[in-house]
Amino acid sequence: MLKGIAASEGIGIGKVMIVEEHSLEYTPKTVTDTAAELERYRGAVDKFCEETTEQADALRKSAGDKEAEILEGHIQMIKDPFMGGEIEKLIEGGQCAEAALEQMCNMFIEMFSAVDDDVTQQRAADVKDIKSAILAILLGIKVVKISDAPAGTVLVAKEVTPSMTAGINKDNIVGIVTETGSQTSHSAILARALEIPAVLSVENATGKLSSGEQIIVDGSEGDVITAPSEAEISEYSAKRDAFLREKRELENYRGKKTLSASGEEYELFCNIGTPKDAVKAMAADGEGVGLFRTEFLFMDRNALPTEDEQFEAYKQAALVLKGKGLIIRTLDIGGDKEIPYLGLEKEENPFMGFRAIRYCLKNRDLFKSQLKAILRASAFGDIRIMFPLITAVEELREGKALVEEAKSDLRASGIEFDENIKVGVMTETAASGVIAHLLAKEADFFSIGTNDLTGYTMAADRGNGDVAYLYSPFQPSVLIMIKRIIKCANEAGIPVGMCGEAAANPMMIPLLISFGLTEFSVSAPSVLKVRKNISKWTKAEADKVAEDVMNMATEAEILEYLKSVV
Ligand code: PEP
Ligand code: MG
Repeated sequence: MLKGIAASEGIGIGKVMIVEEHSLEYTPKTVTDTAAELERYRGAVDKFCEETTEQADALRKSAGDKEAEILEGHIQMIKDPFMGGEIEKLIEGGQCAEAALEQMCNMFIEMFSAVDDDVTQQRAADVKDIKSAILAILLGIKVVKISDAPAGTVLVAKEVTPSMTAGINKDNIVGIVTETGSQTSHSAILARALEIPAVLSVENATGKLSSGEQIIVDGSEGDVITAPSEAEISEYSAKRDAFLREKRELENYRGKKTLSASGEEYELFCNIGTPKDAVKAMAADGEGVGLFRTEFLFMDRNALPTEDEQFEAYKQAALVLKGKGLIIRTLDIGGDKEIPYLGLEKEENPFMGFRAIRYCLKNRDLFKSQLKAILRASAFGDIRIMFPLITAVEELREGKALVEEAKSDLRASGIEFDENIKVGVMTETAASGVIAHLLAKEADFFSIGTNDLTGYTMAADRGNGDVAYLYSPFQPSVLIMIKRIIKCANEAGIPVGMCGEAAANPMMIPLLISFGLTEFSVSAPSVLKVRKNISKWTKAEADKVAEDVMNMATEAEILEYLKSVV
């Protein structure tokens, strides 16, 4: 089996077609008739633009506008005075078209490759693609047509370029395997748009695989199974059919309300880490954002983000959500989330230590600049503030007092914000569960963070294999906590959501319906699945399951029972 990056979900079983790279070698020469050479170059560019436009039109039909725009971008690039204009100048100076094209393109490739971000690196791949295509035209080389690939083909290439992808007939190509690329490269985006299973970055795939051999591409796991046995073929065929069936079925839930079988309505939100994820959340049909983990804005850099930088990020997310709810969690660092430039001291017991709201309340400048950024963004959407790791009412009071201070600073500067912004508590510690009745009187909402609530209730670290048997949200103690938190919120009349991983667990759903949860916040790919799973239960059926479960004494018993009813 070969391993790579799972870039486009699904299973493809088919025969390999290696897409060879053509030798684009030529002998550079000096030209005297520069006008004729310029004409030859412009002819090649015109042909390239013509072919690319055709490919973009085909891609618009098979994949969509955004994908077609990637190719149209190639035309703009080569026509850009910085690139096209400079190439022409080199030809006017006596270089042959091939050499002039190569020199300029290589300069751009080097420049883009040196920048350490996916988008810019992708531009390097785009320029490579343009260079090869125009060189092939200049050299009169006929490139293999992927559009002629027979049904049941798995494309295997060093790199699947956007222009190659454009030739793909999605009825014939059942999988894609490449040696380069990441989750965010164009090949991945296009493979996902075409709904073709893809595994990228498989080392030496073109060397290890040969044209005509049968392979299985598991784009959900990032596996390529070579020389599959009969048993493997039937196992993966069944997986493929189940995947396709579920996908078709889940589409029926798109654009619908989230309702139980007895008609109770729930909010189904998404968890995000960046404003870009907000786009994914909306594309996945999320009804809002139940958890924006802001620590990602603080990671992978050398200094704190400024208030303005944060404001821009929160505002961007708010604009993407167009008035839908956006719960922004204030900085949750420490524990397993390290930010080196903050210079936090190494602690004996970081999970019990100086982290999250505890750190923010002691580092007021940092905290206030985040609060101000969130408040400023609240003028652009339905933003709510959430404090992580609350264990005592004083922390909530102090946090709220700082929100008020931030508000008066903004008022004094005449900056607009939502005067009635809601301030909620992430209930993710045992203490917050126990005092949920007290917190509910002073918080505007709760969101249950089961990832930490499980660990802190069970005193079990999820990363420690020896105590993994204790780390389960189905432990009676954790379920009692969850039930209690929801009950206290309902009694106080405040909304209560769940943003921990457990919210998407099909076995947890009937319990949450019965306990009275009002909002589920899950990862974008889980939205439709959760909506479907909620729709399966009537309140009465869920109540019966919850009653049975809450009378059981062990996690094993509970899981066995839930597996039998879900
Ligand atoms: C949680 O603790 O359940 C949670 C959602 O937050 P995080 O995973 O970011 O700690
Ligand atoms: Mg947490």
